[in-house]
Amino acid sequence: MAHFYDAVLQRPDRFNFAVDVIDYWAARPDDLEAMYWVSKGESQKRSLTFKYFSRQSHRVSVLLQRLGIKEGETMVMIVPRVPAWWEIAVGAIRSGVIISPATTLLTEKDIQYRCVKSKASVFVGDGASVAKFLAVRDACPSVRTVLQVGDVPHPGTDSFYASLELVEADASVEDVRRDWNSPALLYFTSGTSGPPKMVRHNQVSYPLALTTTAKSWYQLAPGKVLWNTAEQGWGKASWSFFSAWNCGATLFVYDDREAFSPRRLLRILHRYPITTLCAAPLAYRQLVLQEAKSYYKEHPPMALSHCTAAGEALNDEVIRQWNAISGMEIRDGYGQTESVLLCGNFSGFPIRPGSMGKPAPTVPLSIINIDGSETAVGEEGEMAVLIDDISSKNEFFGIFDGYLNDDNTVSRREKIFTKNGERKVWYLTGDKARRDADGYLWFVGRSDDVINSSGYRIGPFEVESTLKLHPSVVESAVISSPDPIRGEVVKAFVVLIDQWKDVNQDSLRKELQDFCKKNAAPYKYPRKIQFVPLEFLPRTVSGKIQRNLLRKMEWKSETKAKL
Ligand code: ATP
Ligand code: MG
Repeated sequence: MAHFYDAVLQRPDRFNFAVDVIDYWAARPDDLEAMYWVSKGESQKRSLTFKYFSRQSHRVSVLLQRLGIKEGETMVMIVPRVPAWWEIAVGAIRSGVIISPATTLLTEKDIQYRCVKSKASVFVGDGASVAKFLAVRDACPSVRTVLQVGDVPHPGTDSFYASLELVEADASVEDVRRDWNSPALLYFTSGTSGPPKMVRHNQVSYPLALTTTAKSWYQLAPGKVLWNTAEQGWGKASWSFFSAWNCGATLFVYDDREAFSPRRLLRILHRYPITTLCAAPLAYRQLVLQEAKSYYKEHPPMALSHCTAAGEALNDEVIRQWNAISGMEIRDGYGQTESVLLCGNFSGFPIRPGSMGKPAPTVPLSIINIDGSETAVGEEGEMAVLIDDISSKNEFFGIFDGYLNDDNTVSRREKIFTKNGERKVWYLTGDKARRDADGYLWFVGRSDDVINSSGYRIGPFEVESTLKLHPSVVESAVISSPDPIRGEVVKAFVVLIDQWKDVNQDSLRKELQDFCKKNAAPYKYPRKIQFVPLEFLPRTVSGKIQRNLLRKMEWKSETKAKL
């Protein structure tokens, strides 16, 4: 039988990513490279093969057994980008232990919240995260075992490396494939529009279905090298973990622990044979600024040929500017922690800058009305995925089981549509978009971010993209502001390029408003504009703009001003 990598992807009844993917590539005679790892400060480099991860993950599985950690238990992992992260993750999947990765930026309170919510029995962290965990340990009674990766272990914790040393080099566990719908991962969403939600994925929803994302969007195959700059705590980091390895490609990992710097990103691309880059739109917006442009010219990437972005809407102007600098396009893709890539710009059809592309192969993504029927061309609606009969082998399975509730049940936002006896079940993404006549999808905004001014619905992304066309704008965030006549009006918070900061603000405001009226439908122009520094815009730890917080601030201050 053909391996899943070569065949049309079908959902198996039983699957184990460690056995079916890692061991598969490890068994090949050519000793494929799985990871190229570079330490912080670039003082150490390691090339690690699939054989290495196969072996190490067997040992981790044995270690988990010896520590009394059983299948179905949950492990919260807060470890920076060191190889141990992947050794532990693959070992846990091999054993059926559910992993719940989180970012190193979490506070003690966040860690407590996650351990309690997920009823974790194991906490794995680096020295700093373990210290934070120990401060709230008494409030996390479900946690029995604490493993520390690196640094001198805190009292009462086990050193991961020392414990693994005690496991024989050839120790192994039996190959066990688990029911496809048994839980494998628990991720928290980014928290852009409220408290992060706990998303449960099964053995195939991420681990296997991401093969399509890898092949069609990242264009991966053995010999290709993927660098995804997302931090380990985000679902998007898992996209690269499963994607690259499902295709036998190399995962490039740079143990970056500092704030984002466009120069450092370019330096890494210049020094290492990375072929595919996946970065946030925020990063690309910085890469097209003057300083980065000059650096790029002197330090062009060594092997980069394919650029992708996801996580937030990507302005068309940024795509054009990056193309002018590098000759490459940025292939925008849309997905959620809750899913694999749902739509994107794939090879085989030209990209339309500003569009999220077309539904990914095999993904039944549509735009639907409030009543659950599909919208007409050009009409705004909610992005939704048909999940009628996910238990069937031929249905799309790259989607989460649901948000985990306190009583261990799961639930998701769904819409059931029945017409002429036909019944459809849609998973609702909470995002609004439009489809053009050629099937390209255009992002409008998160449902809660769409502005309603005098009966007109205005998506913030279009206004932000229009502003980005003006040479003075680095980026902007567009929200609604209260207005006695129109109910709501469009307000833009605008970050200016340094050279424009000293010009007369009133005339620049007017210029930007006229510019928007000319370059988009006039009713969408921002009636209010406030110039702000970059740090003013509230963001999630992963860098996404939190328009809901801006909106709350705006409505509070405007209402107060009127009293
Ligand atoms: P929360 O659900 O906690 O509010 P979040 O939605 O930002 O946070 P993620 O799952 O990390 O959490 O992000 C998915 C969301 O990011 C999508 O629902 C969409 O709003 C936005 N997004 C992702 N990719 C794109 C894209 N290419 N274009 C526009 N928006 C995107
Ligand atoms: Mg979300």
